[in-house]
Amino acid sequence: MAATPYTLIPHHYDVIVVGAGGAGLRATLGLAERGLKTACLSKVFPTRSHTVAAQGGISAALGNMGEDDWRWHMYDTVKGSDWLGDQDAIEYMCREAIPAIIELEHYGVPFSRTQDGRIYQRPFGGMTTHFGEGKAQRTCAAADQTGHAILHTLYQQSLKHAAEFFVEYIVVDLIMEDGACRGVVAWRLEDGSMHLFSAPMTILATGGYGRCYFSCTSAHTCTGDGNGMVVRAGLPLQDMEFVQFHPTGIYGAGCLITEGARGEGGYLTNSEGEAFMPRYAPHAKDLASRDVVSRAITVEIQEGRGVGPERDHVLLHLEHLDPSIIEERLPGISETARIFSGVDVTKEPIPVQPTVHYNMGGIPTNLHGEVVTLRDGNPETPVPGLMAVGEAACVSVHGANRLGSNSLLDLVVFGRAAAIRCAELITPGGRRAAPSRASYEPILARFDRLRHADGSTPTAAIRLAMQKTMQSHASVFRRADTLASGVEKLRSVIDSMSDVRVSDRSLIWNTDLVETLELENLLPQALATLAAAEAREESRGAHARDDFPERDDVNWLKHSLVWIADRTRVTIDHRPVHLRTLTDEVEVVPLKKRVY
Ligand SMILES: Cc1cc2nc3c(=O)[nH]c(=O)nc-3n(C[C@H](O)[C@H](O)[C@H](O)COP(=O)(O)OP(=O)(O)OC[C@H]3O[C@@H](n4cnc5c(N)ncnc54)[C@H](O)[C@@H]3O)c2cc1C
Repeated sequence: MAATPYTLIPHHYDVIVVGAGGAGLRATLGLAERGLKTACLSKVFPTRSHTVAAQGGISAALGNMGEDDWRWHMYDTVKGSDWLGDQDAIEYMCREAIPAIIELEHYGVPFSRTQDGRIYQRPFGGMTTHFGEGKAQRTCAAADQTGHAILHTLYQQSLKHAAEFFVEYIVVDLIMEDGACRGVVAWRLEDGSMHLFSAPMTILATGGYGRCYFSCTSAHTCTGDGNGMVVRAGLPLQDMEFVQFHPTGIYGAGCLITEGARGEGGYLTNSEGEAFMPRYAPHAKDLASRDVVSRAITVEIQEGRGVGPERDHVLLHLEHLDPSIIEERLPGISETARIFSGVDVTKEPIPVQPTVHYNMGGIPTNLHGEVVTLRDGNPETPVPGLMAVGEAACVSVHGANRLGSNSLLDLVVFGRAAAIRCAELITPGGRRAAPSRASYEPILARFDRLRHADGSTPTAAIRLAMQKTMQSHASVFRRADTLASGVEKLRSVIDSMSDVRVSDRSLIWNTDLVETLELENLLPQALATLAAAEAREESRGAHARDDFPERDDVNWLKHSLVWIADRTRVTIDHRPVHLRTLTDEVEVVPLKKRVY
């Protein structure tokens, strides 16, 4: 192979963090505090990461607004995960939640306050006291901008501790040598330069991959780049079949319309003008849990009662509410509906559809954040030099379904855990040889091939074909035949990449090439999601199979591991769920009947 023409600017660090969302920044801050020379690379400005959009809050059993106990939080999380979560990691997260939130408070997160000055906490779905008996107020909030508040505070603290940021750098791939990660190759958008970052540890904190789907609540940048890199490194992804849907995303745009809208009296109707939720949930009606409402909307659409020319969505009504209530309690929603669907919510309903909201699956790790893989029969073998945290990772604390406000918690607890682990493993300033050109030349070759791709299909057309395939074949309900045909369709979408056209050849702010690199990351994740969903013949958490409606603990109480080679060759294996707890402070949460 002829050598590519790129000259790489070298950088050496103790740790490289890829991603500056809540997870990446919490890791970066912890590393910098511990005196490790840390580079944090991000494709967007740190405070523009998707974490900024999180509104509801972050859970921790502080007990500021009623009794609480981390063991109850643990119970709820295991139960919410439909028993697929690893109980050692869940114990760690729920116990560490309390000091982690106090620490955030001391760093300066402007939490809302109670009358007596404590952190304000609100109730959230699935959060209970006394092991399912009472209702817990466990979700700490900074008004309806909790993610925003956390992200800004962590960024400021990281700067204070002299972490170095490389902003608008696109990480192209991991440099792997003899099964160990040695660093990354990155492309700087501002001036088109190429960079070689080497370090004894690389932490992936690249977020979720919601953009595999046509409709999702996450930012356009949520393309799961780290997951794509892991696939290309020959490592597995875990539990990719578990994708959480939120019932009310704006049709087409996907932006989130919070449950609060239905909390204030909003309701859903179908094409016949019928308020259909009482048929599915006679008591909770429109305020039934996310899964229940998402499935009800999907049934309405599948049975031909969807609205619009394609009969593929339903309507959310707020126009019967007093405009002053909307103005006071739902100002953000009114603005979002106006901008993204051209609707004045005081006069007409909002078109909505179930929308992808969160990816439970991702890069398998242990509770220190170390990436693990199956080697010599051991699925817990750490991959030297590589960690993953946040939505990119599958540690797995959310199992088959995540509880609201547990993701922000996951970010800070495991971001911190990864920093603690790095301080144990790495000597600051140690000298190491740079990786060999042979180990990263194939990365440059792939980059160069895409940059000069001169086929006839635009990137956007291939992306749309993938998103439509995922939206109809890996949706709220799944069935063997639709999943199998989805896998076939997606394989041909992947094949069409050989005909992709990138029209901009430059290196400076070439967004055409950025989107093509992102699409190359999304495609294997889409395939992994479909293939794992086809393989899992049971219903558990967010994975609802029409043809296998029951949870099957005899055959399926295990994590899925998916490898993808040669673009479309799928291998599936499994990893046991950790049903042991970390300490003997709590008993294993025993299996119960399905909870939804
Ligand atoms: C609308 C919305 C509301 C939510 N509300 C809540 C809530 O109230 N409570 C809760 O607990 N959870 C909530 N969630 C979920 C939660 O916000 C996310 O799971 C979480 O923020 C993900 O954080 P992260 O740090 O893993 O990734 P992100 O915040 O997505 O950050 C990813 C980072 O990786 C960088 N990156 C990615 N690829 C590359 C690359 N190739 N090169 C360089 N950099 C790269 C990006 O620049 C970015 O900095 C919500 C999610 C959404 C979408």
